Amino acid sequence: MSRRRAARPRRPAVAHRYGRVATPIEERYAPDTVLVHGKFRSRHWDYSDHIVPPVSASAAYRLESVGRGAEGFLEFANPEFSRVTGAPIFIYDRLDEPTRGMLEENLALAEGGDRAVCFATGMAAISAALGVLLRSGDRLVAHRMLYGCTYSLFENWYPRFGIKVDLIDVSDPVALAAALEGDDVMALYFESPSNPTLQVIDFAAVRRAVTRANARRARRAHGRRHRRIFTVVDNTFATPFCQRPLGQGIDVVVHSLTKNLNGFGTDMGGVVVGPRMLEPDLLLYRKDYGAPLAPRGAWSLLAYGLPSLPVRVRAQQRTAMVVARFLERHRRVRRVFYPGLPSHPQHALARRQMRDPDGRFAPGGLLYFTLRGTPAQARRGGERMMNHIAKHSLAITLAVSLGQVRTLIEHPSSMTHAALPPKEQVKAGLDPGGVRLSIGLEHPKDLIADLREALARA
Ligand SMILES: *Cc1c(COP(=O)(O)O)cnc(C)c1O
Repeated sequence: MSRRRAARPRRPAVAHRYGRVATPIEERYAPDTVLVHGKFRSRHWDYSDHIVPPVSASAAYRLESVGRGAEGFLEFANPEFSRVTGAPIFIYDRLDEPTRGMLEENLALAEGGDRAVCFATGMAAISAALGVLLRSGDRLVAHRMLYGCTYSLFENWYPRFGIKVDLIDVSDPVALAAALEGDDVMALYFESPSNPTLQVIDFAAVRRAVTRANARRARRAHGRRHRRIFTVVDNTFATPFCQRPLGQGIDVVVHSLTKNLNGFGTDMGGVVVGPRMLEPDLLLYRKDYGAPLAPRGAWSLLAYGLPSLPVRVRAQQRTAMVVARFLERHRRVRRVFYPGLPSHPQHALARRQMRDPDGRFAPGGLLYFTLRGTPAQARRGGERMMNHIAKHSLAITLAVSLGQVRTLIEHPSSMTHAALPPKEQVKAGLDPGGVRLSIGLEHPKDLIADLREALARA
């Protein structure tokens, strides 16, 4: 411990901190403290008398004159107007709304981005991020291992819109460079760590490949206008506590707020965080396609989710390490994937890339493991184990979703990732018997006892 004290300055390196802190008072405090209190000086709502941010419930807003209504519509999604530094004119919830607006400023701060725009679910946020970047005729390059509904969006819907999708192994530099060759590629999309296999993708390597591809494109355009490739990362597994990709060369971050950012499993939500230039289109997309985050969903993140994020994730990853070590030693377990384990294939990369705002290694609270035996044996064994848990365990719940105060276990191949055909699952590295475990806040000894009992039946 003394090494840590000696080596680390009181203020962690900028890259490891939460986003740019906008006001001098926030600058004076540690990132955890800023998240607890939030950016309460907001043009969205002046609430200096409240300790807890207020929640609004008004679908439409009173306009004091027709002129003011017209001004509101003129300013909305207008690149000439900033809804952060200027007070927005509220008209209708789907356009802009004070509680959600306050959350957006806090999420931009947490991720270190210019602007955040919130949606009703994580899938709505992913659709919007790519919806503003892609048009008919464009090509999307994405990593093979994707959350099931993201895969379904790319495979079932994008072809109908004339958007081509190439699924590749983004961690393979040769495959990545080849995939980015075409002038029709407009976005590169991946998760890191990936759901559910916890593969870690190197942001710096991706940045280098995309910069090279963009430079080549600029040369070919001979000074004519051209579009560049944007990188989009789904940071749901890590949360901004464990890594902030925008500070590491990524253009846009998306989250399912339903997971660890809410943290209690009470509401659904999603967010896109990125450069200010994308904000007008994201707001316009949300206005026209719908699916804004409900104000009460935004409020739960302001009141509970963000203030408790650092303590929850710190506790989860402490327990995750203990559980990962237990599983790694168990005779029924073939392989455990947890970025905190030295046996993780990208452990060294994870150590560099996944850092909390104090600069400490932050491998998160999610585990993925496979069982011994043939694929069929592993699958049946996993099913017996999870059924035993469903029936007999208090500490572990059989359920999809993740990042809650409760530990959740599930079978990705037949549940969250069932949209991937069996052949695609194997290509993406998903084991038919693989088990995903999202660690909560229970005592580690209870989780281990219940896992031990269930694994004896596997
Ligand atoms: C859950 C999840 C999503 C989708 O979020 P919803 O809020 O359920 O729409 C997207 N990406 C990842 C990695 C997820 O775990």
